Amino acid sequence: MSSTPTRDSSPEGVAARGGCARCGQASAGNPVFELGGEGRCLPCSLRYRPMLRRSALTALVVGTALVAINQGAVLLAGQFPPSLTWQIPLTYAVPFCVASWGALSNSRRE
Ligand SMILES: [Zn+2]
Repeated sequence: MSSTPTRDSSPEGVAARGGCARCGQASAGNPVFELGGEGRCLPCSLRYRPMLRRSALTALVVGTALVAINQGAVLLAGQFPPSLTWQIPLTYAVPFCVASWGALSNSRRE
């Protein structure tokens, strides 16, 4: 009359076994990141708003400095060559990606 214990497939049960606490995905060799006091899979980590907010703030500060350094003379001369329509967004995207990469690297569980 003994019943075998069922594996808890809820996000809490999966998280207790080292998986994602948000969506319940088992880690199964995939990286798990410790963000906000809980383990998250990569897709859930990429949607973690506090990290996105910090990365956006970093991109705003660093991107503005890089645009001023690299394109400041052209912009102050009142010119706006068409190439700036892709160069300036990329100048902001790079520090956003670097900050996010750093946050994920530092929060990855061993
Ligand atoms: Zn997840």
